[in-house]
Amino acid sequence: MERITVSLGERSYDISIGTGLLSDPDYFTSVTGRRVVIVSNDTVAPLYADTLQATLSPLAKDVALLNLPDGEQYKTLDTFNQIMTFLLEGSYGRDVVLVALGGGVIGDVVGFAAACFQRGVGFIQVPTTLLAQVDSSVGGKTAVNHPLGKNMVGAFYQPQAVIIDTDCLKSLPAREFAAGMAEVIKYGIIVDQDFFQWLEQHLDQLRALDAKALSQAIARCCQIKADVVAADEKESGVRALLNLGHTFGHAIEAEMGYGNWLHGEAVAAGTVQAAQTACLLGLMTSAEAEKIRSLLVQADLPVVAPETMNFDHYIKHMMRDKKVLSGKLRLVLPTGIGRAEVVSDVPNDILRQVIEP
Ligand code: NAD
Ligand code: MG
Repeated sequence: MERITVSLGERSYDISIGTGLLSDPDYFTSVTGRRVVIVSNDTVAPLYADTLQATLSPLAKDVALLNLPDGEQYKTLDTFNQIMTFLLEGSYGRDVVLVALGGGVIGDVVGFAAACFQRGVGFIQVPTTLLAQVDSSVGGKTAVNHPLGKNMVGAFYQPQAVIIDTDCLKSLPAREFAAGMAEVIKYGIIVDQDFFQWLEQHLDQLRALDAKALSQAIARCCQIKADVVAADEKESGVRALLNLGHTFGHAIEAEMGYGNWLHGEAVAAGTVQAAQTACLLGLMTSAEAEKIRSLLVQADLPVVAPETMNFDHYIKHMMRDKKVLSGKLRLVLPTGIGRAEVVSDVPNDILRQVIEP
C-alpha cells in the first residue's frame, strides 16, 4: 500500500493506492455516521458498486447508489442536474458524502456536483481507470462540458480522500489502459528522468497488471501531480507543464472527432510532435526524442498523427488553447528527459515541419 498526502493546508487529503482497497473499511472511516451516495455509471457499477456498498454500509448512516449513463457525452449540466434532483428528492443535507466510482467522467461531474450541492459537501474519489488514477482524481479540477466547449463549466474542489484500488484495472479495456499510460509517461518526461527509466524497465510488468509495479507507478504519478498542484493549485505557473503533448493532442482530438481518438492516444502523438519541435529548436537531442517515441510505442500508443490533418487544421484548434496569451501560442516542450518548459514564439515554419513532415 502506498500513501501520498496532497498538501493544501486545511484542505489537505490522502491518496491511498493498493489492492483490495474497495473492500477495506479502514480507508473509508471518514464516512462514519454520514449519509453516502455512491455515484457511478452503467459500466462500472455492475462490476464494483456491490463491493463498495458492502464496505461502506456498516460505517455510514445509509448508502444509496445513483447510476448515470456511461460516456463523455453525458458529462453535462443535465447529468449534474440529475444528481441535484436525486439529492433533493432524497432529502440529503450538508452531511452527505458523494463517492465518485468510475473514470474521469464520473469523477469530474460528481466532483462538480459535490462543489455545488448546498455550496459544497463531502466528496471521495474512487477512480477506476488508469487515467483517473494518475491524473483526473488528483488536483481538484471538476467540470462538465458545455455544447460550446469541453470542461467549460466547473470549479476547483478538492476531495476529502482518493482511494485507488488497482484491482479495478483488471476489467479495464486494453485501449483505455494504454491511453492512461500516455499520461504516466508524460510525468517521467516533464519532471522525472529516473521514473522514465524505471518505466522503460517495467513497462511489460505494468501491462501485465503486476500489482506492485502498478502501485509504484501510480504512486509516483500522484506524487508528481500532488507536488505540482501544491505549488500551483490554480495553474498560474508550473502546473502548465502537465499539458505536455496536450496542445497538439487537443487539436487531434477536436479535428478527428472526440472519442475516435482517445485523449491519451492524442496526447501520445502530440508528445512526439512536441519532442520533434524541441529537437528542431535545439532544445533536446534526437536520441532523447527517440527514447520518448519508443517508450510510447512499447506502451501500444499511436506516435504518428493523422495524415489527414494539415497545418491550418492544427492552428485553428491550437489558438483556442488555454495557454494562448495575447494571441500568442505557448507550447510545453521537453528540454531533455525529465525536464520541460513553456515556450512561446515557436516559428510557424518549425511547426509546419513537425505537422506536415
Ligand atoms: P471515462 O471516465 O469515460 O472512462 C473510460 C471508459 O472506461 C468508460 O466507458 C468507463 O465507464 C469505463 N470504465 C471505467 N472504469 C472501468 C473499469 N475499471 N473497468 C471497465 N471499464 C471501466 O474516461 P477517462 O479516460 O477515465 O476520463 C476522461 C475524462 O477525464 C474526460 O472527461 C476528461 O476531461 C477528464 N479529465 C479530467 C482531469 C481533471 O484534472 N479533472 C484530468 C484529465 C482528464
Ligand atoms: Mg490529459
